[in-house]
Amino acid sequence: MDSEKILEKMKSLISEIDKHNYNYYVLDNPTISDSEYDKLYYSLVDLEKESGIILPYSPTLKVGGDILESFTKRKHEVNLYSLNKVRDYSDLADWVNDMNKQTGGTEFAVEYKFDGLSLVIEYENGVFKSATTRGNGSVGEDVTAQVKTIRSVPLSIPFKGRLIVQGEGMMTNKSFEEYNKKAEEKLKNPRNGVAGAIRNLDPKETAKRKLDFFCYQVLLSEGVNLDSQEKVHNFIKEQGFLTGDYFYICTNVNEIISCIEQVDKIKNEIDTMIDGMVIKINNVSAREDIGWTAKFPRWAVAFKFATQEVSTILKSVTWQVGRTGRVTPIANLDAVELAGATVTRATLNNIDDIKRKGVYENSRVFVRRSNEVIPEIMGLAEKFEDSKEIEVPLICPSCGEVLVQKGPLLYCENHFGCREQVVDRISHFASRNAMNIEGFSEKTAGSLYDNLNVRHLSDLYKLTKEDLLTLDKFKDKKADNTINSLKASKKTELYKFLYSLGIPEVGIKTAKDIAKRFKTLENISSASEEDFVQVDDIGEVIAKNIKTFFEDQYYLEEIQKLFHSGIEIQEVEIFSNVNPNFAGKTFVLTGALSKPRKEIEDLIESLGGKTSSSVSKNTDYVLAGEEAGSKLAKAEALGIKILSEEDFNKLLILG
Ligand code: AMP
Ligand code: ZN
Repeated sequence: MDSEKILEKMKSLISEIDKHNYNYYVLDNPTISDSEYDKLYYSLVDLEKESGIILPYSPTLKVGGDILESFTKRKHEVNLYSLNKVRDYSDLADWVNDMNKQTGGTEFAVEYKFDGLSLVIEYENGVFKSATTRGNGSVGEDVTAQVKTIRSVPLSIPFKGRLIVQGEGMMTNKSFEEYNKKAEEKLKNPRNGVAGAIRNLDPKETAKRKLDFFCYQVLLSEGVNLDSQEKVHNFIKEQGFLTGDYFYICTNVNEIISCIEQVDKIKNEIDTMIDGMVIKINNVSAREDIGWTAKFPRWAVAFKFATQEVSTILKSVTWQVGRTGRVTPIANLDAVELAGATVTRATLNNIDDIKRKGVYENSRVFVRRSNEVIPEIMGLAEKFEDSKEIEVPLICPSCGEVLVQKGPLLYCENHFGCREQVVDRISHFASRNAMNIEGFSEKTAGSLYDNLNVRHLSDLYKLTKEDLLTLDKFKDKKADNTINSLKASKKTELYKFLYSLGIPEVGIKTAKDIAKRFKTLENISSASEEDFVQVDDIGEVIAKNIKTFFEDQYYLEEIQKLFHSGIEIQEVEIFSNVNPNFAGKTFVLTGALSKPRKEIEDLIESLGGKTSSSVSKNTDYVLAGEEAGSKLAKAEALGIKILSEEDFNKLLILG
């Protein structure tokens, strides 16, 4: 054969083999037998040997080339970003609202969030050219030789323009199990399996792990108009990539939530690790308007599923007395990694829960951390010979009072003489979202309890500087500061005050909802249980808790005393007024603005917003004029939304 004919023959074999690879690895639907496939494959191998020619996109290259000496770095042509996370549906709804406001209504693409190793692959003239790890987002490592071995990475594609795609290198559960069956050194989990395979200098090792590549983004495409995520998705499918085949366009938050719940239910049946969902604005030009922070796009978010369980040893149980007197079992664990954090304690909720879970001291237990709650023990993994029944205490571990059991819950009713309880109540009262007494810690509360006989919330405002000076470590300055913080805390808002009272199960969100609805403390204290149930998200239990609280003579008197000591609930108009874009949001102004700062600040406050002079993670917006300096940089670093005056005016109008 002359070389032209050989090339022709090779090309036709390659396209034949590619087609079968695609059917097998991407569609999971082979149309020929293994032996027929082998026949094709080996005739290509023979031809390559004979001629000494190997085309750059030949499937024979998938077995992996020579061992590399080291990894070289490559600068990304298009920077890679991380994804901002929403913790719960309420955060998600806020984001969706925000996007709708900014765009005047938009569509959202919902996709799997693959939990593997992010990879960038470049094609030129329809041929695989290079692959790079994410690295720090602007520079990654060249892993071309490794990625070439991934079966579901096409080495040639129909599109002939320049193309850069992003996706995730993954190890399916099946590949993981097969690998571990044979491997001497077993992999811990599929995710480690991928990282170790790609960052391996021997591409043949990479090939052995039988990785896959799931593609979800086009970073650059020359000569094709991909102006929506939907087009991107279809395009990458047409090029022969795996996509996970999950793609929905949603137009509101409820649709997005149904997608999330649907996948959450089946995620364990999917053969690849999916740790959440990614929600992106569908329209690409709208993304440009919305923009990026230094770290992530503002036009996309990730919703992470509750993480999977891990197991560890439950060493002992501590019974903790909370502000309401409730005594809760907390498990002390052998430290274990869970969702990127080291976990050493987890809640066991109550006595029934312990029984239900059947766990023991000194037993192996399953622990799980979901999106927002603290780690929880899920059940028994293994009982040992010396495992011990968890003993339910009869007396309070803090004050020695006999405990009272109500249903599955234990209570210490020594409300004002039980140190742990009082300290927790006072710390809660002083905390940031409550009365926000600056510089006040749990230690301070303990010291006030021990030395100055502080037992009630209202005792705090009776403290004098002289009192504080008698305490250990309280010098002149610290005493002054504390007195000033106490004074400053007296000016508060209704929802903060309500939250600070520590009504059982009334968290900050519930407090806000109640304040919004009832507007004054008088209205709240005279409302009925039925009235409370009318508020969204408030059920009968919480309604009853609130009602009981406001019928309690002790608390009514406490509230009176607090008011006598000068607590002042500011009539913040956020509840009756006006602009939901501003209500409760903190703004920082910087740079040269077209109006005097004071004027803009007053405007923000009149709309229910707050202003602050420094940027922190609690800042919601930075309004940046010309020549904005360090505040802008800090806001960018923290991923805080930055508004131009034009954006700001939009917020005003859209509210
Ligand atoms: P994280 O590493 O948790 O900040 O999440 C961001 C990473 O999720 C990105 O860098 C991607 O590697 C990855 N990812 C997985 N699936 C997707 C997807 N469908 N769209 C965008 N990024 C994704
Ligand atoms: Zn007690």
